Amino acid sequence: MEKKQILLLPGPTPVPPAVLRAMGTPAIDHRGPEFRELLSEVTEGIKEIYQTQNDLLILTASGTGGMEAAVTNFLSPGEKALVVSIGAFGDRFERICRAYDVEPEVLTYEWGTAARAEDVAERLRRDTAGEIKAILVQHNETSTGVLNDLEAISRARGDHPALLIVDAISGLVAADLKTDAWGLDVVITGSQKAFMIPPGLAMLSVSQRAWEAAARCKNRRYYFDLQAAKEFFAKGQTPFTPAVSVFFGLREALKMLRAEGLAAAFARHRLYRDMIRAGVKALGLELLAPDEIASPAVTAVKTPAGLTPRDIRTPLREKYGVVTAGGQGKLSDSIFRFGHLGYVDPTDLVSALAALEMVLAEKGFSVSPGAGVAAAEAVWRRYLG
Ligand SMILES: *Cc1c(COP(=O)(O)O)cnc(C)c1O
Repeated sequence: MEKKQILLLPGPTPVPPAVLRAMGTPAIDHRGPEFRELLSEVTEGIKEIYQTQNDLLILTASGTGGMEAAVTNFLSPGEKALVVSIGAFGDRFERICRAYDVEPEVLTYEWGTAARAEDVAERLRRDTAGEIKAILVQHNETSTGVLNDLEAISRARGDHPALLIVDAISGLVAADLKTDAWGLDVVITGSQKAFMIPPGLAMLSVSQRAWEAAARCKNRRYYFDLQAAKEFFAKGQTPFTPAVSVFFGLREALKMLRAEGLAAAFARHRLYRDMIRAGVKALGLELLAPDEIASPAVTAVKTPAGLTPRDIRTPLREKYGVVTAGGQGKLSDSIFRFGHLGYVDPTDLVSALAALEMVLAEKGFSVSPGAGVAAAEAVWRRYLG
């Protein structure tokens, strides 16, 4: 029989049955009145989650398409961007800049640590000529399971004119992000993370300041032309054929999120984080990121000495149906990751910890049976009050 899977990836994430049903809605004319209404409704819903009045555009692309759009619409060839990189997705921003002849200056941090706002402030203070046109940074760095303090980074920018461009692809919905209150010029997200829908859509918010930069921008682009997206949005359309089925799913997911409320969604993701971390620690394993900066969306676990990530992940998947992610880049031989965002629940995490414990015992580690599960349950009980 086909094994039931518990999908604990930092994207794509499990999709609720109601969203799957909505995605089976028969096709509509993407230049007709039904789509106009659908586009307007989901755009308003996403703006609530972004906590913004800025323009919000939806592109048919994976999240990286949104990152590329942010670079090509707001930064010209030869312009300098301050890339704040704490992991693999920070490095991706650097590579996108290079691909479009934008000059990245990278503030690099050890993987597993967070960016320090003081460093950003210090670098901008030295930029007396105003050469830095944008700061590119992750909200949540998925490769290491670290949440950056965006509010502090925004404060560090002060009145320097650089745009603040944020990759919130895995962080939005899982952790608070106040686009307007924190002065975030461009915020990017994707559909397949905490939004609980399949891959296919990237979203970007664009501030007035960012539109002014776009008007001056000389980079090359075609599919990801945000000015065109804005003009079509005014007509209730997108420039090119949108992933209409994913839009139907998005509408349903937004209804679920609105019913839950943002504060409750953040609390739920903190619960997942605390359960997994307590359980993993109780099994004697080490976590990559310290508690103070730990991500509510994904947790990176160090592989114990003598084992490779594959030694743990393969039996987890094949024997127990628990699907985890490996490490990326330089961490690929030393960590594995639990995604816990979107349509996940505490019982999934309890099951995953039970399976992890079985795998460790099979590999000859001394684990006291039930230790991981008990620690996670204690966190869960406190949450339930
Ligand atoms: C998932 C993710 C992306 C985008 O990945 P795609 O595969 O292009 O959707 C970008 N940044 C972060 C932080 C992510 O977690």
